[in-house]
Amino acid sequence: MPLLAWQPKSGGGHLGPSLRHLCLVFLVGLSACRTAAVKPTSSAEEPGTLRYNVTFVRDPGPGLDVEVVLGRYAPREFLFTMPGRVDTVRAYSASGQVRELPVQEKGVSLPADTRFLRYHYALGASRRGRWWSFSGGLGQGEDWLLAGRSWLIRPRVARPDIQVEFSLQGVDAQLPWERGPGGIYRITAEDLVDSGVHGLGGRRCQAQLTDAVLDVAIVGKLSHVDDAQVCEWLRQTAEEVKKVRRNFPHPRVTIVVYPVPHTDDANVFGTVMWSSPPSVALLVGQDTTLPALSADWVALHEMLHLTHPAILPRTAWISEGLATYLTEVARARSGKQSPERSWHELLRGFQLGRRQAQGRTTQEMIDEDAPPGIYWVGAYLALRIDVELRRATGNARGLEDVLELLATQGSTATVDSYGAAVDAVAGRPVFRTLLQEELRRPAFAGLEGLLEELGVTPSPSGVKLHPARDSLLRDALDGQNAGSAQ
Ligand SMILES: [Zn+2]
Repeated sequence: MPLLAWQPKSGGGHLGPSLRHLCLVFLVGLSACRTAAVKPTSSAEEPGTLRYNVTFVRDPGPGLDVEVVLGRYAPREFLFTMPGRVDTVRAYSASGQVRELPVQEKGVSLPADTRFLRYHYALGASRRGRWWSFSGGLGQGEDWLLAGRSWLIRPRVARPDIQVEFSLQGVDAQLPWERGPGGIYRITAEDLVDSGVHGLGGRRCQAQLTDAVLDVAIVGKLSHVDDAQVCEWLRQTAEEVKKVRRNFPHPRVTIVVYPVPHTDDANVFGTVMWSSPPSVALLVGQDTTLPALSADWVALHEMLHLTHPAILPRTAWISEGLATYLTEVARARSGKQSPERSWHELLRGFQLGRRQAQGRTTQEMIDEDAPPGIYWVGAYLALRIDVELRRATGNARGLEDVLELLATQGSTATVDSYGAAVDAVAGRPVFRTLLQEELRRPAFAGLEGLLEELGVTPSPSGVKLHPARDSLLRDALDGQNAGSAQ
């Protein structure tokens, strides 16, 4: 599921009129006809396998022709993880019968004798749904940013033992997966549940870290920033991630950068999609500058989402709270900004959250689950947990140790397994106690007391840091000598 790095801001979060195209709606009813047997482009190798043959087409407009060849024992129930863009699929039987099947909200059931299916996915922004779902993709010509869950049909029960061979022809594509010999991606049906952020066309650059590589697709033109500068900006951002984790969380991550026309905003939108490995979409203003990109938070925020498992079901106070809090921790540790500035940013956000809360409890804010308050309630709880961990361990361990532990437990977590990891690092149960205390009182009620203990005093000229009962803990959070990178 996507994690939105969205905050309401003037000028942000909307696209210019040139990106809005009418969507094509195919109103084709259920029908069947018999033709001479049509052969699929390429067959599946094994009886239980699915073979996806995808072709980028230019006429009548840009789109993707998708063919899925079903092995003899492959599933017959299919759906789109994010439905709404494809109205019909054609099912072809071995004897040559062709059936047009409407795609319902719950998907489509293929007749038992179906040998392969075909459908067309028209590219072009849709007026249906929220634009940041990327339905229809963002782009023009041959350069597109796409969400796989919108355009790729997949088995309803996406078992990891269903092998999938996947090829995409007609355009250079960047997908989250590594391409194998012959241009074939070998994945499983499970990989199709959220198949991530896809880049078609555009240009490529690569950012090398000591322990990872970022493959970057830039789909569109930036007026003032060249491709090498984009990759260097992302490399430096990825280095900041390593201020809160010992290693970059994945050996290879893909990022699609989409330059949004008619704006110089460095941060229009960013999101992580939980493909395997995760993939990132960054929407930046076409006319932005390198200093503006470097000063902005969204790329770091999205990459920090890679440091924690996907929390299921989605629990924004944990995932967004971690990314929001760690953004300021990482920037202080990297020297990108002073610790005073990081505390200033945190306090500014906590005030935003407090204004949204209007005296309501933390539990009510979590139930409301609305940005930007949920980000800052989550960041405040992350700070509280981090401080509590350091108090419990004589300042030896903190939140980053929780992330290291969770990373050994798989790519997903629950609130309970997150809490168990916090308790394991603390060496005693602190998670539920802290949570119960916070949930029932007004959001941020304990902020002033906590700041006093940490030696953080806001003043009109900025934040002052000074010795206090827990200022050594604070140094461990925000100091340039702190963190697992040491
Ligand atoms: Zn986020």
